[in-house]
Parts: sequence; structure tokens; C-alpha cells
Amino acid sequence: MKKGFKKHAILLGLSLFATQSMAALSDKEQQLADYIDKTNPAALKLLEDIVNINSGTMNFAGVKKVADVLIPEFKALGFDARFEDGSAFGRAGHLVAELNGGTGPKMLLIGHLDTVFEPDSPFQTFEKISDTQARGPGIADMKGGDVVILQALRALHDAGELKNMNILVVMTGDEELSGRPLELSKKALTDGAKWADIAIGFENGDGNPATANISRRGSIDWTLTVTGVPSHSSQIFKDNVGAGSIYEASRILNTFYTDLRSEELLTYNPGRIMGGTAVTHDRKANSGTTFGKNNVVAESTIVTGDIRAISEDQVNRVKDKMREIVAASLPKTQSTIEFGEGYPALAPTDGNKALLEIYSNVSEDLGQGKVAPVNPLNAGAADVSFTSAYVEMAIDGLGMSGSAGHTVNETGNLEALPSQSKRAAILLYRLKQQ
Ligand SMILES: [Zn+2]
Repeated sequence: MKKGFKKHAILLGLSLFATQSMAALSDKEQQLADYIDKTNPAALKLLEDIVNINSGTMNFAGVKKVADVLIPEFKALGFDARFEDGSAFGRAGHLVAELNGGTGPKMLLIGHLDTVFEPDSPFQTFEKISDTQARGPGIADMKGGDVVILQALRALHDAGELKNMNILVVMTGDEELSGRPLELSKKALTDGAKWADIAIGFENGDGNPATANISRRGSIDWTLTVTGVPSHSSQIFKDNVGAGSIYEASRILNTFYTDLRSEELLTYNPGRIMGGTAVTHDRKANSGTTFGKNNVVAESTIVTGDIRAISEDQVNRVKDKMREIVAASLPKTQSTIEFGEGYPALAPTDGNKALLEIYSNVSEDLGQGKVAPVNPLNAGAADVSFTSAYVEMAIDGLGMSGSAGHTVNETGNLEALPSQSKRAAILLYRLKQQ
């Protein structure tokens, strides 16, 4: 009850706040912005240094090395900062930094230390390609965002505003390839979200600083397993043989295609199919083998795919419809569908919309223009999604913009480092006033 009341009061306060027009920056806010300009060369150097440390998700030593560089930076600001080991979920672990005891809302800031580029990738180093652009593994996704978090906090520290704030920073070591079970690999985030009122993600979003994410679709995997009665092909359709597993899998997939396509912001995709007399399936390698002759009725078929949806409700509705379709089997076939662990959706709540409005006002007051929401159809699941069930407000995509993420041409927009850091510092400062 107490917590519910508190959270409600914060949302109401912020909604009123969001509608006030801020003509310009206050002196204190200008001070935050000036600090970020003044210290930008050192921030760029830090970014270059951590981009040059390989931290592919499965390079545990490298992921920890990035944390080892950042932890002293948080300690210097008064945070209790540490590396939490990830062996329980088969990954390096996470950086966690806490600053408690202040007044105002509790804020969870989310980054990640890992990249998709493992040590065997040809893409390993920071390379400046112009005054405003640099290539590098993870430069935008999301070591740039990690430095944005640090710069915003440093500016607040320099202005004497940090000491009475409540901030928890979680930089995961496995955003790109989550450890399992998710319950353990995402525990630092869900625990943080249970504590927090507001969650702020510093992913690079869609690369456009005029947008931010207030909703992301969640995703879960499914596996369809179909069995039929093996027999000579000449006997198919007879009462004792039936349709075989491949016809049954085709019926199911076709019905998914024709009957489930009514909902907005919902997609479901079969990504892999194997059918025949003998099928092997290697889930981990996303691969498998099949053997079957044209004159034999197929005994087994396996299909795997995903569902992307905007809310838990939608996921549950679709799961029920899929189960119903699967159960209506053709003669002499049997089918089951299993749903795996997944990423929850971040639904576009009123709280998230209010937070975006505050952020957009900050941006306008900085002369950087309005910020609009990203279409959730273009936004995949991310770490911030794991906070959605617990926080009053959430936003993501406040990191450093760039392009060609997850490719060897990943490029960061260097001018976004100070501009995004200023937005973040002033956003946190205005949120603190509540
Ligand atoms: Zn990322």
C-alpha cells in the first residue's frame, strides 16, 4: 500500500511537471551542460579505451575488464560499485553501482558491457573516420551509452546535486546473448526495478536522437512437435495411417498464417522446420538434420519460431489461439507446442509517455528539438523490458546514436556523446526535484 501510494504521487507530480513549459535552462542546468562540454575530450578518450577492450558476450575476461575500468569511475562519485559474478547463469556477470539515501524518486539506469563481437571477429578497434564519426565494436551499442550515464552522473556530482539522489546503475554483461535461466541472468535488473520508481535505458535506440523508446515488443520462442504414423506412401490417407506429420505441420502453420493475423503489433514467425522419417534437433546450434524418403509417410516434424507482442495480455491471447489450432489434429497425427522463456514487452503506459514528455522538454530547452516515440514495430526487446512490470515509468534509447550496429561497420555519432549526456544529466536533475 505504502509503495503504491508513493508511486502514484510521483506519477501525478511528474505529469503536472511535464505540462509546465520550460522556457530555458536554469543556471544549475546550464552548469551541468557546461561541465559536459568541458570534460568531453576525456569522455571520448574513455569511450575509445573501452571500445578497444574486446567484450564479446562470451569473452568473460573482457567483459570484466570493461567493468574494471568503469567501477573506479563510479566509486569516485561516491557509489558503492562492484562486479557481480555471473557463473550461476553462464556469463561473465554485471556491474552494479548504488547510491542510496537521497530524496526524490529512485532511478535505475541501465547499460551493458558486452558486444556481439567476440575475439575472433575481424572488428576489434576504435577508428576515427571524421571529426564527428568513429567506427568501433560496440561504440553505439552500447559503450557510448555507458559513457553517457557516467558523464551525466559526473556533471551532477560536480554541481553538488548527486549526493542526495537515489540511483542504481546496472550494466549487464550479457545483453547481446543472455545467460540462462533468464530468471537469474536478469535478476539484477528485476531486483533493481522492484526498488526503483523509474527505469532509464541508454541503448542507442533506432539511431535517431529525435526519438526514444517508450515501448518495445517482447519476444518468446515456441517449438512445435508433430508425430504421424510411418507407412508406405501408397497408404497415406487410409484410416489407419492418416495424414502424416508433414501435412499436419503444414495445416498448423497455414492456420497460424490465416487466423492469427488480426492483431496490431503482433508477429509470429516460423524460423526453422525439419520433417521426415528421422529428425534430429540441436536447439543450441539452431540446427538439425532430417532423413526421409519420398515413398514413406513422414513420422516426425519439428518447427521452431518466435512471437513478438506488445503486452503480456497479447502474448497470452496468442498462446491460447496457437494451442487451440495445434490441438485440432488431422487424422492419426499428434501435435504439441511448447513456449520457451522470453523477453517481456514494454507496454506504452501513461507513465512512460509522461517520462518521454519530460525528456522531450529537456531536449527542447537544450535547443535539440522534440523527442518522439519510436514505433514499437521497429524496436526489439531489450534489458529495459525486464523492468516493465515493476516501475512506474520507463524509457530507453537515451544512449549515443550510431548506425550499422551488430555489423563490422558499426559507427558512432561522436557529437551525440555530449548532446545525449546533457539531456540525461538535466533529465535526472529535473526528476530529482520531484
Ligand atoms: Zn545493446
